[in-house]
Amino acid sequence: MLSYEEKIDLFNDIENKIDKCCLCPLSEECKPISGFGNIKNSILFVRDCPEFEEIRTNNVWSSPTARLFNKILHAAHINCNKIYSTYLIHCRPLNNKILAEDINNCSNYLNDIINIIEPKIIVTCGRHSLHYFLGNNKNINNSRGIFFNKEYSYGTTLIYPLNHPTSMIKLPSIRKKEMFDDLNLLFLKMIELKIIVE
Ligand code: SF4
Repeated sequence: MLSYEEKIDLFNDIENKIDKCCLCPLSEECKPISGFGNIKNSILFVRDCPEFEEIRTNNVWSSPTARLFNKILHAAHINCNKIYSTYLIHCRPLNNKILAEDINNCSNYLNDIINIIEPKIIVTCGRHSLHYFLGNNKNINNSRGIFFNKEYSYGTTLIYPLNHPTSMIKLPSIRKKEMFDDLNLLFLKMIELKIIVE
């Protein structure tokens, strides 16, 4: 079993590799961005891909969508500095259209991160991340707010799907409330699993 210091070293290596990555053609259009946050608390948020503003500022919480998401997290007592937030793919695809080959090219980083963090909970924030963890037959509307078990070599992880955060901008009257309700349930689960968040 790795010590926390060993995990941090391995983790920093992965983040450095992502920052310099040019493994696939998406790097010709934009600079990759790695994740951000704290890996100590065993909870991982996975968004589908970065927004332009996040790439421009190299800050995962800088886009209007991410700032709104952060506000709802805060309202649900989840501190964004105490979770680790990353992406399924670390560059922004052309026309925001994520292809299967993009996921194939980039997901090794996510798998490495999962094997280091050994998260108790993985929160999926979008259709592509949901499908990546739970299969293409899952639908966000029927899966959001539900904990699913997934087996890894280190043990069982709970997969918890959320709506894509952008949906709160497209349909605020419904999606903000859904997001808040789903994050409240997540917060209760985090307390149950003794995941420190404040
Ligand atoms: S999408 Fe992923 S694999 Fe492709 S260049 Fe960006 S970081 Fe590298």
